[in-house]
Parts: sequence; structure tokens; C-alpha cells
Amino acid sequence: MLTNPNTLGLFEDHILEITQAVHAAGGLMYYDGANANALMGNSRPGDMGFDLMHLNLHKTFSIPHGGGGAGAGPIGVAERFVEFLPTPVARRDGRGEYRLDFERPKSIGPMRSFWSNFAHVVRALTYVYANGGEGLTKISQLAVLNANYVRVAVKGFLETPYDEPCRHEFIASAQALKRATGVRALDIAKALLDRGYHAPTIYFPLLVPECIMIEPTETESKETLDEFIAALREIVETAKSDPAAIMNAPVNTVVGRIDETRAARQPDLRWGS
Ligand SMILES: *Cc1c(COP(=O)(O)O)cnc(C)c1O
Repeated sequence: MLTNPNTLGLFEDHILEITQAVHAAGGLMYYDGANANALMGNSRPGDMGFDLMHLNLHKTFSIPHGGGGAGAGPIGVAERFVEFLPTPVARRDGRGEYRLDFERPKSIGPMRSFWSNFAHVVRALTYVYANGGEGLTKISQLAVLNANYVRVAVKGFLETPYDEPCRHEFIASAQALKRATGVRALDIAKALLDRGYHAPTIYFPLLVPECIMIEPTETESKETLDEFIAALREIVETAKSDPAAIMNAPVNTVVGRIDETRAARQPDLRWGS
């Protein structure tokens, strides 16, 4: 199972060699659709040698992610695996009407959650139709453009360990800043909360120390990207002159800095006292 572009936001240059090597050893390749934002309409996992894949509707197709409820992930397979798909399969008959087809001798059989999260699938389909093929293609192109715009600006004041064009996301690191000032990726994320930003993913992927993953998506304008870059730059500058100001963040939110170890070890889940 691979995601491409990978979690560093980099397209795997050797993807064909990788999938061929796995196939040669008798394996199948599963495509994790987590990063489909980067390639919708622009390249196809099937052409890279993948056999089956899912789309994370809650990542790429406008479905609520997290607190609002479960995600959904429809699965697609290469032509040669269609006969094994679960039953029933919706088919259009000779009169143009949809029917459920149960007559599939090689099918793996019915699945309990066949309909998936139906409302999510309808919403995602609406998003797909509303944007159309051209729209989805452009969404990916804008997501990639936006990520590279922010990447090039951010490398002026934070390390970017993979200094090459990225896809929809890139990795910055606060390791040098931490050595110089004690301010960590976590502190930067908290300081962003104070400035009105949803904190980015931090400490993931694990292979980059003090990692900050930045994925602006296609929906941001140049103005909002510039504001975000300015906020991040100001945080890094403040960290150098007054590290405590960043380490104490957030101070503008309803709940301030919590003791994360205590929160995990002694969770208090009741409202009030
Ligand atoms: C988000 C992500 C996942 C997890 O997907 P969810 O459906 O949101 O749980 C898996 N792999 C990668 C690479 C991801 O980015």
C-alpha cells in the first residue's frame, strides 16, 4: 500500500519500478487515496501500476473530516478485478434502467456495509458533478500551486528539508529554531491558534524532526496565503527575540496550553466540576 504523492508531498519518481517489482513477486499494489488532491484529473493511479484504491471522500471531496462524523472511502479496482467485486453491483440494463446485479459467480460476496455512508457519498458525488472534470483538474493544479507558493516563502525563515517542487503539501522543520531558541513545532502550532489559524499537522511524518506539514489546499487566495506566511514569519521572529511569548501560546483562545500528558493519563471528561 502506497500513497503517491507521498506524505512529504513528493511524487514517487520510481513508482513504475516499485509497482513492477511488487507484481513480479506476486503481490498487488493498493493505492491509498489520501493525497488525491494532488493529482485528480492530472494522473491516474492505474497508469502507475496500482490494482485497487480508495478515495478518502473526507479529504478530497468536501466531506466533513473528524468531529462531524465518520469518513467514507469508495473503493475502485482495475478492470481485471471487477469480477471479484462484492455483490450486488449496480448496472444499467438494456432499457437504460438501473438494476442490482447479484449474478456474479466470482464475487467475494455481499458486504455488510454495502451502502457505505450514503449521505456522504451523495454529497461527494454532488461535489464531483458541480466541479466537473475540468474543475477537479484545476482544483489539483491550484492545490499544488498554492503549496509551492507557500513552500518557497517559508524556506526563507524555516528549514524545508526536501528542497524541491512539491505537490499539494510540503514539510517544514523547526529543528534549527528549537536548537537556537527552544521553540518547537508544537509551540509554533499553538501560536498559530492565537493568530486565528487552524494548526497544521505536526510531528508527522515521523521521519522529519520537529516536522510541520503545510497543506494550504486550493481554496485559499493569494491574499490569505500571504497572511498565513506573514503570521508564520512573525512567529519565527518572535521566537528568536522572545521565545517565552511563543512557548506560552495560545493566550487568545478559550482554553490555554494544556498539560497533554496529564490530559491523556487523567482525562476529565465531565463538564463543570
Ligand atoms: C489521512 C491519511 C490516512 C488516514 O486516512 P483517514 O481516512 O482520514 O483515516 C492514511 N494515509 C495517509 C497517507 C493519510 O494522509
